[in-house]
This record gives sequence, structure tokens and C-alpha cells, in this order.
Amino acid sequence: MKLAKAMYSCHDVPVVIFDNRCGAPCLYCNLFNQTVSRNNILATGDKGVLKKLSDFKGAYFSPTTDCFLPANASLTHALIARTWAINPRFVPLVVTKQVIPDKTIQLFTQNKENLVLQISVPNLDEEAVSILEPGTAKISDRLVMIKRLIDNGIKVIVVVMPWFNLDEDINLLPQKLAKIGVAKAIIDTGVLQNKQRDQMINSNNQLIKQAALKLVFSNGKKNGYTLPRNIRNNLLRKAVIAFNESGIKLVVCTADNPDLEDSLPLCTEFKHHNF
Ligand code: SF4
Repeated sequence: MKLAKAMYSCHDVPVVIFDNRCGAPCLYCNLFNQTVSRNNILATGDKGVLKKLSDFKGAYFSPTTDCFLPANASLTHALIARTWAINPRFVPLVVTKQVIPDKTIQLFTQNKENLVLQISVPNLDEEAVSILEPGTAKISDRLVMIKRLIDNGIKVIVVVMPWFNLDEDINLLPQKLAKIGVAKAIIDTGVLQNKQRDQMINSNNQLIKQAALKLVFSNGKKNGYTLPRNIRNNLLRKAVIAFNESGIKLVVCTADNPDLEDSLPLCTEFKHHNF
């Protein structure tokens, strides 16, 4: 495993890179096999990473694989528990599509003031999610877990990324999330590379196929396939209204949408009271 320099401009914390990558990658993902250049490596090996982690205010677990894949869950637990023991003010920024093991939920509950926890819920269509994200937990299991975490006092941020608007009614997702106590979410329609777009087009699901066919190539800050600006702007605006009407604060991730800065509530700098 490795600890590497920050990968995103919105938060200045190093990233944890696991050796065990996602075995059944999401159709839209091109990060699961990304390597890190030697110049960006801060530490290597379990012991080396553990020793270095506590020097930082926090770390991102994990942009290039899911840190709660069964093959990574024990190591993630041990790294976070031991780093908190050395530096109680350390803040892990955890993003997952998996069900977090019970013992780690207990650990997170005991340290909830030093944690930023993001759980991905891109839409409610179980069949589409099982095709788009074949190695991840069912949406129903993620929702049960989110409720449990919120009931334990953890402020879960729901990540709606990439959002292909597959639910028949744009209000269904925020209404469902509001019912289980979600107060904050972040959304992005994503930028796909050619291979990932083709994988979606070649899937056996019409909703996924149609979503991929709507994407156009853009030479923006990040080259790739995305929705045309006007469509993206209108769709994200509708999402912001739908989430707000359900009582959930929704921000749009700036990484793929810098061209929408003037018209939508973009998240340009990662702000969180624990961070
Ligand atoms: S779980 Fe995350 S890192 Fe793994 S394939 Fe899916 S999007 Fe990529």
C-alpha cells in the first residue's frame, strides 16, 4: 500500500492507495487501475503508511479503490484506529459504496467528531446499480447502513456521483434520503473516458445505454464525455431544487463542472466542520 500526495484541488490531504483494487470495477470508473508516479509517493508499506499518516490533519480513503472492499476492510480499520490512537485529531475522509463492518461502525461512532464519511447513492434503481457498479453493495443495504450511521450521530454526506438521472422521478432519491435523516449531499454528472462510455453503451440495460448515448465529447478542463453544458446545467439545477425541497442541502462537485460556476452552488473547496 502507499500514501500519496493529494489528488484533488478541493482538499489538501494525502490519499491512501491500496494494493487490492476493485475486482469488479464500476462501468464508469477509470481510477481503479490508476498508478501513482514515484514523485508523488509519501510512504509505502503498511508500517510506512501508518507511521506517516498521523503527521497529517487527515487523509482520503480511497480514491483508487473502495477502502471497504472485503479485501481492504481490516486494513482500513487498523490504519484508522491506530492513527487515531497516535493523533486523536486526525480526520479520515472516507468514501464508500460498500457496507462498513460492524466493528468499524462502532469505531466511527466513538470518534464521530473526527470523521468525514461519504456514502455513495447514485440512484435507487437496484438493477441499474448492479450493472453499473457490479462489485458494490445493494442500494437497499447502503440505505439501511446510512440510517444506522445517522442514528448513531454520524453526519453522513451522500455522494450522488456519477449521476445519470436513471430514476423515473427526480424527487424520489431526495425524498428517500430525507426519510432516513440525510441532511447533506453532493452531486456530479461525471466525465467519462471512451472505454467507460462504450462499456455503458454495451450494457444490457436500456436506461444505462440511453444515459451514455446522451454524453458528448468535451475538451474542457478534463477531456471526456459529459452532458452538454445547457442540459447539465438545467438537470443539476432541477436536482438542487428537488433535494432542497426535501430538506437536503445539495452542492455540485466542481471537479467536472467548472463551467457552471456562475449558475449553480458549486463545491469549490471541501468544507466540513470536522475537517
Ligand atoms: S468502487 Fe470506486 S474505485 Fe472501485 S471501480 Fe467503483 S468507482 Fe472505481
